[in-house]
Amino acid sequence: TARPPLFQFDNTYARELPGFYVAWQGAKVPAPELVLFNRQLAEELGLDPDVLETPEGAAIFAGVKSPDGASPLAQVYAGHQFGGFSPQLGDGRALLIGEVIDQNGRRRDIHLKGSGPTPFSRGGDGKAVVGPVLREYVIGEAMHALKIPTTRALAAVTTGETIFRDGPKPGAVLARVAASHLRVGTFQYFAARGETDKVRQLADYAIARHDPDLTGDGERYLKLLRRVIERQAALVANWVLVGFVHGVMNTDNTTISGETIDYGPCAFIDAYHPAAVFSSIDHGGRYAFGRQPVIAQWNLARLAEAILALIEPDDLDKAVERASTELSRFPEIYRPHWLAGMRAKLGLRTEEDGDAALFEQLLSEMHDQKADYTLTFRRLGEAAVGETEAARAFFADPAGFDEWLSAWRARLSREGIEPGAVKAAMDEVNPLYIPRNHKVEEALAAAEGGDYAPVNKLLEAVKSPFEERPGFETYAEPAPEDFGPYQTFC
Ligand code: AMP
Ligand code: MG
Ligand code: MG
Repeated sequence: TARPPLFQFDNTYARELPGFYVAWQGAKVPAPELVLFNRQLAEELGLDPDVLETPEGAAIFAGVKSPDGASPLAQVYAGHQFGGFSPQLGDGRALLIGEVIDQNGRRRDIHLKGSGPTPFSRGGDGKAVVGPVLREYVIGEAMHALKIPTTRALAAVTTGETIFRDGPKPGAVLARVAASHLRVGTFQYFAARGETDKVRQLADYAIARHDPDLTGDGERYLKLLRRVIERQAALVANWVLVGFVHGVMNTDNTTISGETIDYGPCAFIDAYHPAAVFSSIDHGGRYAFGRQPVIAQWNLARLAEAILALIEPDDLDKAVERASTELSRFPEIYRPHWLAGMRAKLGLRTEEDGDAALFEQLLSEMHDQKADYTLTFRRLGEAAVGETEAARAFFADPAGFDEWLSAWRARLSREGIEPGAVKAAMDEVNPLYIPRNHKVEEALAAAEGGDYAPVNKLLEAVKSPFEERPGFETYAEPAPEDFGPYQTFC
């Protein structure tokens, strides 16, 4: 008897959007081996983890074997990279293999990264190597555990190939899952070619997929823009609240869904520092930690440009005016997300006029004293129940911090919540375990040498970021002094 298909694919992108991709297959590789597998996510997707945690699963996730019902394809898109427009990027080393409906009824893309060259490789080798694949796996899963919209990691496989980057590296493929892979750059590709009908087709597809309540609405394209602005503003506020630096906020890495995508040279800040940059290629600091909101708004302006012709087909001036009004609202959408997040991080439930100043004052002290961002907030939970020393220890000169502490105490006392409850609420939003740069590097280096124990342990730490557990002490420590300035490479 025939066994049921491994995936219940329903491939709307392949079916409904011919001309938006090239049908393609993954490259053959010598020895696919499954090194990480997200069984829980597989179950959520309605897949059988036992059947996939096998050599057959490894071959599928390496892109060597196309599962029944798949329609593997490379998507075309354009994008502004560091401010300069590239009219054609596209999946140069990735394939969308198909879409499934998960256990919650949500449509999810199954996507491979590192599966070999495609017509969009532009001279690249189409491959990925184990370090960056595992970084994306770990940081993506950490972001999900931090309740931040993100692509998810389903599996990592090594391929048995040696790939040359800064030296010979083990080849690898990441199988990832996303709400979709529609990017600002997808719209830009067709808009730049003057293919307005295709821009409209894409916008209607995006609406059906992400904002189905707008289907048939006469104002739907302007409203789609508004929705994407809202999702991106909320997303970037979340990044900033956890101290995340994406590193490559190009428009091809800006999603319509509002999920974080394409973890390349990304990192979490240790010491609080708005100008923090970790990417080896971001020389001008365009994508520095504190610049992310304004860059998101810039990227959204590129989306607005791409759909202008849909917003007011017969009146460009009016389209520009209406789109500009939406874009100008970005700060007033972003700011309340950030303020609400900061209130939660500091155990506050009500709103007061002086809150923003209180938050800025703490950040300014943290900046001056190079205090660890994550741990300062976590230890402030202890300060809420009277144990101030751990938080205070992050401030070499604590005078300013002490003054701030009194102001926060006074603010808290006006809420009249029992201190234990304040601490408990704070511990639910202030992570103890984040993928710290030195731990990520340590785990990646071990994995490159074939030892996956550290990356598995790191994953275990960051998958429950709020819950203090014995055995994970070193994951809750700031980088050692001798770790030095951190740089990541794509
Ligand atoms: P990224 O910076 O990872 O978002 O990628 C930007 C563009 O470069 C995308 O079109 C990728 O598909 C392409 N790209 C990145 N690395 C490679 C590679 N090794 N081979 C082919 N294309 C690549
Ligand atoms: Mg990308
Ligand atoms: Mg990338």
